Amino acid sequence: MNATDSTFSAAAPDAAWRDEVRELARQRDAVILAHNYQLPEVQDIADHVGDSLALSRIAATADASVIVFCGVHFMAETAKILSYDKTVLIPDERAGCSLAETITADQLRAWKAEHPGAVVVSYDNTTAAVKAATDICCTSSNAVDVVNSIPADREVLFCPDQFLGAHVQRLTGRENMHIWLGECHVHAGINGAELRERVLAEPEAELFIHPECGCATSALYLAGMGVVPAERTKILSTGGMVTAAAQTTAKKVLVATETGMIHQLNKANPLVIFEPVNSAAVCKYMKMITPAKLLRALREMRDEVDVPRDIADRARLSVERMIALGAPSRTGE
Ligand code: SF4
Repeated sequence: MNATDSTFSAAAPDAAWRDEVRELARQRDAVILAHNYQLPEVQDIADHVGDSLALSRIAATADASVIVFCGVHFMAETAKILSYDKTVLIPDERAGCSLAETITADQLRAWKAEHPGAVVVSYDNTTAAVKAATDICCTSSNAVDVVNSIPADREVLFCPDQFLGAHVQRLTGRENMHIWLGECHVHAGINGAELRERVLAEPEAELFIHPECGCATSALYLAGMGVVPAERTKILSTGGMVTAAAQTTAKKVLVATETGMIHQLNKANPLVIFEPVNSAAVCKYMKMITPAKLLRALREMRDEVDVPRDIADRARLSVERMIALGAPSRTGE
């Protein structure tokens, strides 16, 4: 291992690391954005912490000319799409997403060819190329409104999250909706039997479900099926979850989402015990962004996110259609 490797594999960041990151960010005119599922040290050094669309909106309106996006690749792409003239860096370009990888633009085009005239609705967890072949994007909280905005006689192709798709189909009663069978690897850590067992074993505890990404859309689907007691279950946005955490009178809250969210909840209310429904619900891609790689990105200005302009222009349209619809998203915090 050479000196550089040693520097970048340093485990616990210290004050010198924090000082260098902040100083480099200042020199580079960079804003550091961190998703809720990032490592706590990365969340704590960031200028803003939030969900993916909220961070993309911040990126688009920030004065900084450089955006360091600590999250997974499709999120950094969305930041690039919405702020095309800025330099967007991701500290490890290999940080992918198992859900986004379940559908490629070619697969989507082939699916569209089987259903001419259908309207394509894509969840945020898709690559820029898939968004470019999409009619309208959605998040987990506005997906029902997005699908309801489509004329009833038009077929809908919903991708890539099968759990969110099934949830939306149940709520809309839409029969002419086809659902791509994609899923996130993290949701397997939040299965229905275990979710119910945990909640019933802790009758005093509240249950927070935060369906950001695909990691907890299975929990959203199960809650909609009545698998857990409705009176103790709250389905919340990022901001809503932090507010509910600060206000809850429960001694314990079980949290169905990726475990990184617990850090923000502990900060919001240190008096409450926040426990993941399953501590194995960890996104390995989110955890690829380490403090050392964040420092490297700022030092070397490497791993720039590039989206061809024609793809960015078409992808932006699908995101803007969602925003224009005015459907509530989880990003109003
Ligand atoms: S939690 Fe799942 S859906 Fe979210 S980034 Fe990780 S792999 Fe993708």
